[in-house]
Amino acid sequence: MADGSAAGAPRTIGILGGGQLGRMMGLAGIPLGFAFRFLDPGADACAGVTGATVQAAFDDADAARALSGEVDVMTFDFENVPDSTARAVEEHCPLYPPPGALGACQDRLTEKSLMEELGIAVGGYHAVSGRTDLLEGIERLGYPAVLKTRRFGYDGKGQAVLRDAEDLERAWQRLGDAPLILEAFIPFEAECSLIGVRGHDGDTRFWPLTRNVHDDGILALSRPGGFDAALQAAAEDTMRRLMDHFAYRGVMTIEFFLHDGILLVNEIAPRVHNSGHWTIDGAACSQFENHVRAVAGLPLGGTAMHSHALMFNWIGTLPDRAALLAVDGVHWHDYGKAPRAGRKIGHATVTAASRTQLMERAERVARIAGGRFEALVQHLN
Ligand code: AMP
Repeated sequence: MADGSAAGAPRTIGILGGGQLGRMMGLAGIPLGFAFRFLDPGADACAGVTGATVQAAFDDADAARALSGEVDVMTFDFENVPDSTARAVEEHCPLYPPPGALGACQDRLTEKSLMEELGIAVGGYHAVSGRTDLLEGIERLGYPAVLKTRRFGYDGKGQAVLRDAEDLERAWQRLGDAPLILEAFIPFEAECSLIGVRGHDGDTRFWPLTRNVHDDGILALSRPGGFDAALQAAAEDTMRRLMDHFAYRGVMTIEFFLHDGILLVNEIAPRVHNSGHWTIDGAACSQFENHVRAVAGLPLGGTAMHSHALMFNWIGTLPDRAALLAVDGVHWHDYGKAPRAGRKIGHATVTAASRTQLMERAERVARIAGGRFEALVQHLN
């Protein structure tokens, strides 16, 4: 889509998926003059406050085709878009990031072999399509190891840590029907992610590496910055290779394990990411705005951090909003989703002028939010 010639006429962006990521794309893109349309199977998709929503299954190629006929460009807010849906969309309008990236990232095995092909460091792994493969894999990688489904895993779902033969039996009973991958267990010092964006003209920018703390397999806290320049450069080099390979357009995320001072790729998400929510309140241009700019063919915005920042994820329930907003530097984001155990329903980003001030504020927020946050926030101190 070329930009801006039809003086002032709003351009329309279609999004497959109407969750909180789509909602935040909408909230970022509306001030730029874009209108949004969503396709989502849910009756109450939370992105609906930012644009009309068609209720349809993600494999409903006819619904996706119809939506793509009404918009100028399409994107997605989750990576499990079926190939048939992507192809249907492309009959009418461009889909970014490119479907090649989408396909490669949907399968943990394809993803890992591509990275090896591109000379990118990953932990040891073994393809498992039967019990014999699993036993061979354990023989090769040793305990502990992590058995994962190749597809549709997220937030620690569809995976099991194997510490001994009993764990292996239990995991095989639970997961053995699906194609699997066995991974060496990485005793990492830290988990971190890099988020970057590539524009229509190949301009590529990266936000600072962000350290992530998970609780029960779900992201709990993210804090950008604090990594040395060599690690940032290594992470950027990795992402650039992947982006060039796919002739990428839009935001990409890579999740890394930091182990023995080296970054090993855990997984790639061809989309905006939970660990980048801090960019709304802490960076010159957010991941959401830059994604919209990239898919719409506009110049990219700056990715520098203008404040120290730390994000808290609200899972299942929201803490006391008024008490939190009484803490200076707290930015509140409620996704408008019904509370349910394990569900991401909002986040807050704390910003501050210095690292010390940030941690003081974050500790106050953790005390108010309660639960495990008081202990978890210490991992970022
Ligand atoms: P994933 O769904 O692959 O991102 O995994 C969810 C979480 O499980 C990660 O963020 C890690 O904390 C942990 N994990 C996954 N794979 C491994 C591994 N190979 N070694 C150690 N921890 C892992």
